[in-house]
Amino acid sequence: MPESPSATCLFCEISRDSAEASIAASDELTVAFMDAYPVAPGHVLIVPRRHVSSLDDLGPDEGAALWDMTQVMARRVKAKHAPAVNLHLSDGAEAEQDIAHVHMHVVPRHRDDAVAIELPGTRATRDELDRAAASLADD
Ligand SMILES: [Zn+2]
Repeated sequence: MPESPSATCLFCEISRDSAEASIAASDELTVAFMDAYPVAPGHVLIVPRRHVSSLDDLGPDEGAALWDMTQVMARRVKAKHAPAVNLHLSDGAEAEQDIAHVHMHVVPRHRDDAVAIELPGTRATRDELDRAAASLADD
């Protein structure tokens, strides 16, 4: 595991309970806390406890734990806040990852809300899609 806790990372501080946060749930490997800049009430973030800046560096146990906690939070958000959710994870600066510690957003969604996720993108040709699929078929 190449990355160690960062003294300057807000999400590491939250994981160590040394920064103010509204913790929704936690376990051995993950912490779920409310986004300080929510898109809607109930907007929650799930992070691995260990400082990991990219999905590439997440261990399989951490990845599984992150997904498990994401499902738990999505279920609770839908029970308490909104009929639907979007999951969002930015991996890398070019994807607008703002804090270099892996974090999954669970975004509550309501019919006709103003949340803008700009999809779909631009229509691709079948050839482009086939080449992209082939590029992802193996390492
Ligand atoms: Zn961190």
